[in-house]
Amino acid sequence: MRTPIIAGNWKMHKTVNEAVQYIETIQSNQLPQDVEAVICAPFLTLHTLQDKLAGSSIGLGAQNAHWEKEGAYTGEVSVHMLQDLGVGYVILGHSERRTYFAETCEQVNKKTIAALNAGIIPIVCVGETIQERESGRTFEVVSSQVKKALKGIASNELHKVVLAYEPVWAIGTGRASSANDAEEVIAYIRKTLMSEFGTAVAEQIRIQYGGSVKPENIATYMAEPNIDGALVGGAALDPESFSGLVKAA
Ligand code: 13P
Repeated sequence: MRTPIIAGNWKMHKTVNEAVQYIETIQSNQLPQDVEAVICAPFLTLHTLQDKLAGSSIGLGAQNAHWEKEGAYTGEVSVHMLQDLGVGYVILGHSERRTYFAETCEQVNKKTIAALNAGIIPIVCVGETIQERESGRTFEVVSSQVKKALKGIASNELHKVVLAYEPVWAIGTGRASSANDAEEVIAYIRKTLMSEFGTAVAEQIRIQYGGSVKPENIATYMAEPNIDGALVGGAALDPESFSGLVKAA
């Protein structure tokens, strides 16, 4: 049985004070314990939020990390630094990082390996652009991203990885993929995992859908057999809305 995982990706939103208020609100909302709820916050808020969430069942994640432990990489934050703070998750390879910061599949692979080595759960994002979808390349693009991200990962570590299928055209557009279409791609991802790594581990890896998920549509995704949760941007910025997402999952 795969535990559902709902992660809020705040992207570049919220000051420390705003972040603290948000966490206080979701903590007062009594989120269900059978769903893994994770907040992926900007680096600057992580230290404060880690204190705030100590002993809570709500997980804390970052939105990127560098694979080297330390070094001359101006402006970067390492997986090791996140580990030191007790951060439990990290989003890797988000399409915004691939598009605006030229992140490559090879880098996503290094980051994923580094996160697992540090005991941090990587939430690895994949997804096709609208051009790729319209030219019938969705399965090819997405399975290639998955294979490249997971290359060389030890078989006893793979089950910890969370994948997020986020079609680029559905992110922040209000144009969500239908649950049926998302299930079709996610089932294909699981099939890819089976042929690459075997059935046992493929059945364990959790795969989220992301792209215009809201409290009103999340149940349609969760009803699909291969969809194990959601990675949510806009609708996770409001604490009541995030609580609604976790409760509806
Ligand atoms: P939206 O939920 O705003 O579409 O964003 C999805 C996303 O990019 C989560 O990582």
